[in-house]
Parts: sequence; structure tokens; C-alpha cells
Amino acid sequence: MELKICHLYPDILNLYGDRGNIITMRRRLADRGIAATVDECSIGEALDASQYDIFFIGGGQDFEQEILLRDLAAGKAKEIIAAVEEEKTFLAICGGYQMLGQYYKTWDGHQLDFIGALDLHTVGAKERMIGNYMFRTTDESGGTMVVGFENHSGKTYLGDGVAPLGQMIEGYGNNGEDQTEGARYKNVFATYSHGSLLPKNPVLCDFILRTALERKYGAPIALAPLDDTLEQNAHRYMENRLSKK
Ligand code: GLN
Repeated sequence: MELKICHLYPDILNLYGDRGNIITMRRRLADRGIAATVDECSIGEALDASQYDIFFIGGGQDFEQEILLRDLAAGKAKEIIAAVEEEKTFLAICGGYQMLGQYYKTWDGHQLDFIGALDLHTVGAKERMIGNYMFRTTDESGGTMVVGFENHSGKTYLGDGVAPLGQMIEGYGNNGEDQTEGARYKNVFATYSHGSLLPKNPVLCDFILRTALERKYGAPIALAPLDDTLEQNAHRYMENRLSKK
């Protein structure tokens, strides 16, 4: 078995070690003898989305998001939308998550029109939502506890066709109002969680990898268990800390 991963805009959307998610996916595949290739695709480089099984998009500030608009419109938006509809697997973090939606209106009234692959939009608030946080993914996304770190001004609101990735336990999540966190649409997993998400949430990582493998090979796949002592210690430490808040 093999998975081909495309890291979109690695030089622009790269906050808080988001790249660690790529390292984790690769490592957990390699430890099971599953080959993985990672290609990077940034501004000015053509994207042929049909070649890939997983797309990763990290976070970025408003400024970085704005400078991508022209490049997205020049071809990548169409490729990304098609890949989403073809049920390719995506992991998108914060600014990358917002970018998959319809638009982002910054807190000072400036509107960035994004690609609309997902029915959601984001409105900036003057007060940023910052801190360690915790949510539980919906059953559809594995029903597992996730610990992470969020830092965003944007409040994201989901449209009818998009489910949340999870329900908030501690922190703000999508907007600090409706207790939802992230988005799940087809095989897109989108979240506000930086820092890095997957190293300390190995159950979620495996869920995402399995989603991509099952789509590619068209059959249920059981991933061999790994020794996750360190990962689970990191996870549990944060879960305990946040439970006491
Ligand atoms: N610019 C976005 C916001 O502040 C995303 C920030 C981020 O990716 N951390 O809402």
C-alpha cells in the first residue's frame, strides 16, 4: 500500500509547527510498512490534485491568506474543489481551514473571498481566541478526545451541508458560541488545532490515514497498533490539565 501526500503552501501556511502533522502521518505509515511520498506545492506551481490521496494545509495569518488569493484563483481552487468532491482526504488547520470556506471578513471589515469548497464562512472578532483547548470528535470522525492549541481572530460558522469535526470540551473552537469545533465534509477534516495536532492525538491521526487508505483501496483496512506510550503520555498530560480548568 502507498499514500501520496500533497503539502499545500508549506512555505506560507506554516504556523506553530503545523508541518509536524506531515512528519507524524509519514512516520505512522512507515512504521506499518506503508509507503508515503510527500510533495510540496506552493505559489506559482501547478497542482494536479488527481495524483494525491491526502492534502495538508497549515495555518497562516490574515496577511499570508490574502497573498494566496490570486494563486488559488489561477488554478488551485478548482483542483482543490474537485478533490474534495472526489472524497480525497484533507487535513486543514486554522488559516487553511478558513481558506476552504466561502469567505473571511477580517475584524476591520476587509473581505477575503476564499474558494468555497466547504459551506462555511468566517468573521473576524477583535478579541482573539487563544489557548490550549480540547474537544471530542463526533462519532463520524472517530469519537475521540483531541487536545490542541488555538489562536485565531476568525469565528467560523458552518452551513447546512457541513458537520462539525467535534464538540468543544474546553476552549473556544469554531466561534466560542455554539460549542462546535472544526468541520467535517466528505473526507475533509478541518480544525483550529495547531501545535502540532497529530503527534499528541495518534488516534485521530490513524483515523485520517485509514480514511485515505480505505478510499484508495476500496476496502476496510485495519491498521496495526503501534507503541504509543509517549504520544499517549503527552495527550493525557494535556487532557488532565484541561479537565481541571
Ligand atoms: N488569520 C486567521 C485568524 O486569525 C488564521 C490564523 C491562524 O491560522 N492561526 O483567524
